[in-house]
Amino acid sequence: MDPSEVKYEAPLTKHLFRKATSRGMPLSGTIEVSPVCNFNCRMCYVRKSPQEVAAGERRMLEVGDRLRIAAQARDAGALYMLITGGEPFLWPGFCILYEELVRSGFLVTVNTNGSLIDKDTVEWLKKLPPVRLNITLYGASDETYGRLCRSPQGFTKTAAAVDMLRAAGVPVKLNCSLTPENAEDLEAMIAFAGERDLIIEVNTYMFPPVRRCGSGKTEDFERFTPEEAAYYHIKRYRLQYGEERYADFLAGLRDGCARIEGLDEYCTDPLDGKVSCRAGKAAWWITYDGLMTPCGMIDRPSVDITKDSFAACWEKLREETDKLRLSGVCQRCESRSVCHSCAAMAYAETGTTEGIPRYLCKMTREMQRLAAEYLRAKEL
Ligand code: SF4
Ligand code: SF4
Repeated sequence: MDPSEVKYEAPLTKHLFRKATSRGMPLSGTIEVSPVCNFNCRMCYVRKSPQEVAAGERRMLEVGDRLRIAAQARDAGALYMLITGGEPFLWPGFCILYEELVRSGFLVTVNTNGSLIDKDTVEWLKKLPPVRLNITLYGASDETYGRLCRSPQGFTKTAAAVDMLRAAGVPVKLNCSLTPENAEDLEAMIAFAGERDLIIEVNTYMFPPVRRCGSGKTEDFERFTPEEAAYYHIKRYRLQYGEERYADFLAGLRDGCARIEGLDEYCTDPLDGKVSCRAGKAAWWITYDGLMTPCGMIDRPSVDITKDSFAACWEKLREETDKLRLSGVCQRCESRSVCHSCAAMAYAETGTTEGIPRYLCKMTREMQRLAAEYLRAKEL
């Protein structure tokens, strides 16, 4: 195994997830503290303004609600906890929630855009470090951050935070959401990570924002065409792998048997079309307004955690997740093992998990075409 992959997820963690999935244990949770963010990214799936949150039908959970949920989740077997937003460091209850979760034994990871992390925050994190901070990098210059995130000093602030955290020994992983607005910075972002010996995970597929806008609506949302997403997905690996590993990856893509990078499991059972990833089997997500869902990219199935205990909601969510099926076309597709599509993507793209996500069909076919073209040119 490549040492960088061990850093990404340890074999013991994978083992625990396999066990938890087979037993239906809620090993890993995500607490979404708030959809409010100091950035306003063009491809965001969740962001809302404080006014939109206040006008929502459901009330936002308080710190106490979340601690109650976390305590019950721990009793049911939860160990890993991801805190996400919006921007968690903007939410007033974040420090209390974080400290309580770490002190009560959860292995806590935080998703953040990094821009609000200053010297004092680093000192505080140093005393009670997370398992990891996942910082999303949106570009390699303030101009790009201004275009994509509408945050003209975003890069300067984020880069300073990354360097302070590294100097303090706080574990950091970089994520990157690639879109037409920051694609030209891809090489520079990979170099930024390389110079700091940090993992960077680049995604070129952006979920339609069903939770922000509602199903089928894409207001103020920007992503690549499927062909561009395929091109940059492959380019990312060309920049990150050596020549030999890159050629192996492309051969796997062309032949329909490449490992889907970033995932350690198939999302769908090839025999019965059921969801077979961790979502709703070993993993759960609590939205800022108190719904338990299998995955934060979609708004259903969902169970109201404010009305029942964690254990009861988890059982209900497992039952509902077990009913989900992917399209028969996807199940039988010969590109299945190299396609990224999962139940959440099918739902976000088509309004039902049983729909055929055409965007992903096009992206997959284009990746395979590009791989074959490259290998032919190299006579491989
Ligand atoms: S930083 Fe993240 S949460 Fe905030 S607007 Fe951008 S994508 Fe959305
Ligand atoms: S989304 Fe398209 S390419 Fe992917 S498995 Fe389904 S039918 Fe095949």
